[in-house]
Amino acid sequence: MNKVLVTGGAGYIGSHACKALKAAGFTPVTFDNLVTGWRDAVKFGPFEQGDLLDRVRLDEVFAKHQPIAVMHFAALSQVGESMSQPGLYWRNNVGGSLTLIEAAVAAGCKKFVFSSTCATYGDQDNVILDETSAQYPINAYGASKRAIEDILRDFEAAHELQHVIFRYFNVAGADPESEVGEFHQPETHLIPLMLDAIAGKRSALTIYGDDYATPDGTCIRDYVHVCDLVDAHVLGLKWLQSDKGSRVFNLGTGSGFSVREVLDHSRAVTNQTVPHHIGARRLGDCTKLVSGSFRAVEELGWQPKRSTLDQMISDAWRWHQTGHYSG
Ligand code: UDP
Repeated sequence: MNKVLVTGGAGYIGSHACKALKAAGFTPVTFDNLVTGWRDAVKFGPFEQGDLLDRVRLDEVFAKHQPIAVMHFAALSQVGESMSQPGLYWRNNVGGSLTLIEAAVAAGCKKFVFSSTCATYGDQDNVILDETSAQYPINAYGASKRAIEDILRDFEAAHELQHVIFRYFNVAGADPESEVGEFHQPETHLIPLMLDAIAGKRSALTIYGDDYATPDGTCIRDYVHVCDLVDAHVLGLKWLQSDKGSRVFNLGTGSGFSVREVLDHSRAVTNQTVPHHIGARRLGDCTKLVSGSFRAVEELGWQPKRSTLDQMISDAWRWHQTGHYSG
């Protein structure tokens, strides 16, 4: 059986990965504690409820399904929350990942795809962020992900755990067929919050600071479509299957957009005004995060197809109007 254990498969990116894995001929087995994920989002393979800190449960699931690989998405991922509750991030992200990695190695499952983040790079002015850039995270979220990258390297040295690390830039958009989409409660991410404000589901969007050293004063991010992102994961899995060894890949487009630019595009795509006001900076936010790497394109053969800002907003808007989960 071509089973892949997908932690966080009930979440935003994990559920899209399950769809892509199924389309590529794999069977995604979702492992999720449903704290932030949704049972309704598990549509493409078996579901196993459990927590990454529960080693006994993990051992059971590895023994039952005997996956050929792990795709590890499950994590807490809010920059602001990581600054106010760092213990939660270190325990859940680092402790949970370590438990998972140990369980995988014990079960003889030694191919591992890991969701890391551009937040591991931190705020580096005028530095092209590629996979060789130094990592100086400025928030606990980024620090927790960098620590997991270190764990993977140590487990490769000691136990031959082959891994692909993907450092995501800002993931956006939704499945064009609206089978799955982004649905966080509470929502903290820019594009869904903007769409909520447009739809009148919440009051005005707060722009977190307009006094950054950028042309319009708001933070710049590199947005990548969730479908393109998960396509890269399938390619990463195939990379590991062909024994090419461990590798790190940035997943971004190389184009940066400020918060104000995202707002302008949202207005154009939806043809509606975006109620907003300027607020204080959010603790832990980097000024600019844009990928300067084409490694995934050159080495994995990754070809982003939907990662224009307008396409991402328009796919997110379609999902926003039609899709949601209730449990
Ligand atoms: N942002 C904002 N208002 C919001 C949410 C986000 O101005 O209500 C900004 C945030 O400061 C950052 C960008 O939008 O510069 C993207 O934030 P998001 O939380 O979506 O992703 P992150 O970059 O933190 O992973």
